[in-house]
Amino acid sequence: MAGLLLKITTDQKAKVSKYTDELLSLAIDKHGFGSSQYKGIYNQYFKMPNQEKSNLVNRRHYEAEMIGDDLPNGLERLYKRVTVIDLLSTCASECVYCLRGYYQKFALSEKDMQGIAKFCGNDPYLREVLITGGDPFMSPRKLKYMITELANHAPNIKIVRIGTRLPVQSPNKFDKTLNDFFYSLRNRFAFEISCQINHPFELQEITRNILSGLRQSGCLIYSQNVLLKDVNDNIETLVELYDELRYLSVTPHYLFHAVPMKGTDNFRTTVYEGLELIKQLTSKGEISGRAKPQYALMTDIGKVTLYQDSIIGRDGSHLLIKTSFHLEDRLKWNPYYSLPDSAIINEDGTLSVRYLDGVSNK
Ligand code: SF4
Repeated sequence: MAGLLLKITTDQKAKVSKYTDELLSLAIDKHGFGSSQYKGIYNQYFKMPNQEKSNLVNRRHYEAEMIGDDLPNGLERLYKRVTVIDLLSTCASECVYCLRGYYQKFALSEKDMQGIAKFCGNDPYLREVLITGGDPFMSPRKLKYMITELANHAPNIKIVRIGTRLPVQSPNKFDKTLNDFFYSLRNRFAFEISCQINHPFELQEITRNILSGLRQSGCLIYSQNVLLKDVNDNIETLVELYDELRYLSVTPHYLFHAVPMKGTDNFRTTVYEGLELIKQLTSKGEISGRAKPQYALMTDIGKVTLYQDSIIGRDGSHLLIKTSFHLEDRLKWNPYYSLPDSAIINEDGTLSVRYLDGVSNK
């Protein structure tokens, strides 16, 4: 959603597809203003971030870009087996709580993509890539080119993950030739499509058909959703959402606490409110064990799934989060990496990180 947040905090105007506009109208017609369905769409796309003074700052959630004279554009790396490829910055609709608003507008050139594929092919640790942006389904041509280059130059890459919201934001624009493309390469790569779906009302028939078509093309679909205040921060909505995803054979992956970003205080629950909800969601017997997501934080040093002893302290509005990351590993996988100020090296060599909590309304 490049540039969006900057734009809407000054213009206070959402940037959405025609489909998202129509989905909001449908929610109003069928369920009324103030309904869960209305809030599920309105609060993700139309509710403006506040412009009041905030503890949050505009920045990327972590800095892991690989930048060097001999490197192509578009690579990020935090982990051993996977690198992130930022294909382009556009999305069909722009979510008001998304950190991508702080990224520069960009789209990879064919030269960049060739360079990335060769870089991946020469890395002894890599086995998978995550192609994201923005939304890679916005440019099927670029996406196919990137994957074809990987097929040609990176025999070590076994898994191609793709992050998209196009099936819920602009499903009428989905390019069906992608299905044939994925099917034709199903013996070369395991394709895993990540779709962020935060409210069950987003699962209209047209969206369900796209997810089903991708599955029939041999792709595994998984969900990386965000816990958002007044969208899905209640147990009834979460149960319905994960039930519906289960029936569509969408594998649950992360349920993220909303990232700390300027203007988005009103979208963030506290971390402990999220923990209470995930406890109910996963330990109440309401949903299938196969439908349970992991509750995770996107911290300055990477994603952290919360366990009982992950939160080791509080310093004012920040929580102190203990991880099992090691700086020396990071530097092995990404020599260009540097620790953010919020990170702390523990005595045992692991990293902890300060993480800004949300504010409770309760
Ligand atoms: S679709 Fe994804 S990348 Fe684009 S604005 Fe929404 S959350 Fe951000």
